Amino acid sequence: MKRDTVVLVTGASRGIGRETARQFALAGCRVGIQALNRYDLAEQLAGELSQAGCQVLALQADVRDRSQVDAMVARLCQSWGPVDVLVNNAGIAQQKLFTDISEQDWDLMFAVHVKGTFHCCQAVIPDMVRRQAGKIINVSSIWGLTGASCEVHYAAAKAAVIGLTKSLAKELGPSHIQVNCVAPGVIETDMIAGLDEPGRNELLVQTPLGVMGSPADIAHTICFLASDKAAFITGQVISPNGGFLI
Ligand code: NAD
Repeated sequence: MKRDTVVLVTGASRGIGRETARQFALAGCRVGIQALNRYDLAEQLAGELSQAGCQVLALQADVRDRSQVDAMVARLCQSWGPVDVLVNNAGIAQQKLFTDISEQDWDLMFAVHVKGTFHCCQAVIPDMVRRQAGKIINVSSIWGLTGASCEVHYAAAKAAVIGLTKSLAKELGPSHIQVNCVAPGVIETDMIAGLDEPGRNELLVQTPLGVMGSPADIAHTICFLASDKAAFITGQVISPNGGFLI
């Protein structure tokens, strides 16, 4: 990764986003650490990384809200210039029978994952096109590829993120902008903390490597896609999943 590359990671207060922001920062990038509810965690991470000599900025925004996203990107831009790498990672999860999903549940799921990605992409792409360079990495899920019982709205939103990725890769390729997607398998974060023991065991049985992934496993993949080593990769869905989906 080139030093001083400007990176924006959404949903970076914890889990995959936090570790991704950390890895970019330790690699010498200038990193915007976006958080919503637990902004204190983003500030804490920013403090730790600053002490280690990294260039980081904690940013508070709700990706569902266009004006908040625009303000966040403007702030980052004022500090360090335009965003070189955007990681759309912010997400929520919910398990419910399809017939129990309310219209509000459905709208929220699509607002965070799909509209949030749409807002963040639209906020950074004009500068990327002007500079004829940029990388966007969207975080989907294996459920967006396989479908998931009792998570229809989550799986549908994650599938939409894959469609958005592929379409945007085609549209922006001629402007030398790469758009890729990471579709993690089961990763040990707060998002899956609510799973009971039988549920966890069931997932482990279905994972040939027999373990859950770590946030670092996904962060490594995201950092690779943002690096020069991935210069010929665009419109792809890479799924670190322990063999859950082959
Ligand atoms: P997490 O719950 O630990 O972190 C999610 C982050 O998104 C948090 O920082 C949260 O504050 C932020 N966020 C939620 N709504 C937001 C909003 N409206 N605006 C801004 N930020 C918002 O989850 P995680 O496991 O680290 O998940 C990160 C991404 O990876 C998500 O998109 C998730 O769907 C995806 N994913 C996770 C797993 C897994 O097993 N953990 C598997 C596949 C995909």
